[in-house]
Amino acid sequence: MSIIIKTDEEIDAMRQAGRIVAAILEILSKQIKAGTETRELDNIVAREVKRRGAKSSFQGYRGFPANLCVSVNDEIVHGIPGKRVLREGDIVSLDFGAIFKGFQADAAVTVAVGKVNEKAKGLIETTEGTLETGINAARSGARLGDISATIQNYAESRGYSVVREYTGHGIGREMHEEPQIPNFGLPGSGPVLKKGMTFALEPMVNVGDWRTRVGDNHWTVFTADGSLSAHFEHTIVITDGEPEVLTRGVYA
Ligand code: MG
Repeated sequence: MSIIIKTDEEIDAMRQAGRIVAAILEILSKQIKAGTETRELDNIVAREVKRRGAKSSFQGYRGFPANLCVSVNDEIVHGIPGKRVLREGDIVSLDFGAIFKGFQADAAVTVAVGKVNEKAKGLIETTEGTLETGINAARSGARLGDISATIQNYAESRGYSVVREYTGHGIGREMHEEPQIPNFGLPGSGPVLKKGMTFALEPMVNVGDWRTRVGDNHWTVFTADGSLSAHFEHTIVITDGEPEVLTRGVYA
């Protein structure tokens, strides 16, 4: 197993997939309000990927039954959209990946439903900050463990925990390529980062303990202690300088 270095053409295909992911997440974010059924979000994704000549990375992946993951409150990841109705004060993690011209991009965002309490607000802000600081550590010549350690330190120094059983990942022709990118680890460890490597960084941050449990549907992952969890993700490419974020929206 090795980390695939992408050509400029391959990165450009991922850039196009990334723009689609960003645009669709932006559309979904605007639909997050009290009274929305989570399956309505799935319908929007089905329509929007088709309109753009793309496909969902998630639909059918290991049998996953929807176009995106919608995870509410103590649900961390892999929530299946359905009849659940969003309520004022909920927090909702939207995780979506697209395939376009044979290449993939993957991103996630956690959105507040109406007005949320300070605890939820702090969690969302911290998780987004955790991702941004992780992205900033993703430099040519640094090591993979530098990203992991940066993410862990940012979240834990603010009193939160990072989920350990689920990780970021390489991405390209496949949604999940080598390497796994844990959201915890030791600086200076792991492979050296090189220009042209493409990663999906995705810290999942909990208010309480880092431990998880999988729900009765065999997909949805919950915090074991029932505390709130947030999830932010971007697909990035290592360059000679600052990493390029492929899923940052122009929101076209
Ligand atoms: Mg991912």
